Amino acid sequence: MSTLPQIAGNQALLSELRLMRQQNHLPHALLLHGERGCGKKLLAQWFTMLVLCEDEANAPCGKCKNCRLILHGTHPDVMTAEHSGKKMGYSVETVREIRREAAILPNNGDIRIFLFPDADGMSIQAQNALLKSVEEPPAHACFVFTAETIGTLLPTLLSRMTAKAVFPVTEPECVSALTARDYPAADIQAAVSRFGGNIGKCIEYLSDEMLRTASDTAAALTSALAQMQEYDLLRLLTSAAADKDLFRRTLELFDCQLRDAAVFSLDGEFRRLGCDRAAAEALAAKLTPRRVMRMHGAVTEAFSDLEGNVSAALTASALCAALCEA
Ligand SMILES: [Zn+2]
Repeated sequence: MSTLPQIAGNQALLSELRLMRQQNHLPHALLLHGERGCGKKLLAQWFTMLVLCEDEANAPCGKCKNCRLILHGTHPDVMTAEHSGKKMGYSVETVREIRREAAILPNNGDIRIFLFPDADGMSIQAQNALLKSVEEPPAHACFVFTAETIGTLLPTLLSRMTAKAVFPVTEPECVSALTARDYPAADIQAAVSRFGGNIGKCIEYLSDEMLRTASDTAAALTSALAQMQEYDLLRLLTSAAADKDLFRRTLELFDCQLRDAAVFSLDGEFRRLGCDRAAAEALAAKLTPRRVMRMHGAVTEAFSDLEGNVSAALTASALCAALCEA
């Protein structure tokens, strides 16, 4: 039985990568980038199978020994770098270990694959330590990175990678992917109305109570801000601040709403990141992009206060004041 990772959408990218294998032009360093939840890690697994699959004509087949070992996460030639530290980065020691491993010949085939998920959390030191391996990789080594944004990667490192964008899918594609996972239809509708074709975020919304609360609060915050209801703002922020993790998630989502509002007011086509389109549009109608950017600055400041161990309650009231003054 074939058990390939089910990749929704992104078919042009899959075809391009398949063609690269057929023509023996697989990249030695692949960077898959795109917004959180759009399926980069699943695609990285698919790519790993594509590279190591034994079925020349139908790679990745999902059936051969290599494909099956990858699916079970037990392939001896596939190594995932381990995160360390608060910011989900990689220690220089981890990178050095990977470099040592990269020098060793493969066990099962011709290629060893090294995965770096969420590589945008990688420190400058760790990136520098990795640079040499990616610049002059051993013939049998392949590096696969995933990242939300490419802005934090060193240009020197980036220039050695083949960067490919991964996109959220259409809403109907998202609905069918979620239906295949057996979620109830009504819940699927609620998730898709919040997060559109971002399957990862929809799944999180369907399975994670905290995300549901955080996105409801972020939507309500956007509306309160559009109507300048200071009391509601304070009440919503304070209640989210009762739990520091909930508060962080709420602020992240609220910040996405601000970003959407800023882009709405500039017109044109764009991909929505927030969880409530109508609220973001209402905010955009009330404020100039410049004010929305100042509000974004206030949220960024709230994040660094939380990092710096300012209490969540204090951060909430300072943020409320800053949003009203922005
Ligand atoms: Zn295979």
